[in-house]
Amino acid sequence: MIDVKFKPWINDLPEYIPGKTLEEIKEKYNLEEVYKLASNENIFGPCQEVLRYIRNNTDYINYYPDSDCRKIRKKIGSKYNISTDKIIIGNGTDQIIEMICDSFIDAGRNAVIADPTFLIYEKSTLKCGGETIKVPLSNFKQDVESMVKSITNETCLFFLTNPHNPIGTNIASDELEYALKKVNKNILIVLDEAYYEYLPEEEKVNTLGYLSKYKNVVILRTFSKIYGLAGLRIGYGIADSEIISGLNRIRLPFNVNSVSQKAAVIALENEWYVEEIRDKICNEKEKFYSTFKKEGIDFIKSYSNFILIKTGRESKNIVEDLLKSGFIVRPGENIGIPGYTRVTISLPKINEKFLSTFVKIFNKYYK
Ligand code: PMP
Repeated sequence: MIDVKFKPWINDLPEYIPGKTLEEIKEKYNLEEVYKLASNENIFGPCQEVLRYIRNNTDYINYYPDSDCRKIRKKIGSKYNISTDKIIIGNGTDQIIEMICDSFIDAGRNAVIADPTFLIYEKSTLKCGGETIKVPLSNFKQDVESMVKSITNETCLFFLTNPHNPIGTNIASDELEYALKKVNKNILIVLDEAYYEYLPEEEKVNTLGYLSKYKNVVILRTFSKIYGLAGLRIGYGIADSEIISGLNRIRLPFNVNSVSQKAAVIALENEWYVEEIRDKICNEKEKFYSTFKKEGIDFIKSYSNFILIKTGRESKNIVEDLLKSGFIVRPGENIGIPGYTRVTISLPKINEKFLSTFVKIFNKYYK
């Protein structure tokens, strides 16, 4: 027992339940081969150029990193043709979400979010003493119109996720534009595009184009997903320079390590890799869809690198059986969508193995 007293509300914060680790499952079930398909990482990993850099360039880690992340901001700036004062780098976009909430949320203020959605929006809002207004999804999509209608005088943040996590559905340009037009200019709209690069070209909305007209928008993207650098923790935000300058006031110095900064620059120099991964994942997703259709298993079409499968009342047993077979997936009940199971699309061989195992387990309970 300890005598020091945490702030009482800390106990009430929602708990982020991460996917189980490979080591945990190997040990628990005495397995040699375990596949982690729970956290939407890019299982192909980063491109060789990035890996080579990381392996050979750790000599300078005794020095602090560039606190202002100049090189990666410059690289992002030239990629999108925007000035570097509109860009902020975070230790993952998680940290930028936290900085946004730290900067805008206070007791009595609220953030409008979808339900379910990525948990960090709520956690960061509550941590600042604010509240969330949760708007249920409609037909598995963010109900932008209802979200707009639920805004109150105390709303200061409005979160949209495109593509959505944990569902994988997207938001069309007319829905985004509806939100931009309707939401009061004193509310910051956070467009979380962590999975943006997985969208097919024809579904991509040029959200960066909104920035010149709407000063109350921040766009979040990350190197954790398609770039395969989740372990390095680096993501970025793009917004009006006054918003970025405000966020910078709250940002801790040296928040992004030097290896990550440089690895991200190299990742952007090898954009061909992103397209290659997106096409591979799209191909693999089709295999999931056709297997599920053939077997009469319901799923939600995804614009991302994961799929939600309807596993119904037997979800717990199915997840447990998958674990015993060496597949770590994310139970829907941990991410706000009970009765479903989320699986990350992996390498072709692993996907094949997963699908045949999954179908056997599913049929054991339902056929
Ligand atoms: N937004 C969404 C929608 C996510 O799913 C995630 C990662 N799970 C993040 C943000 C955070 O990503 P990062 O690794 O950049 O912190």
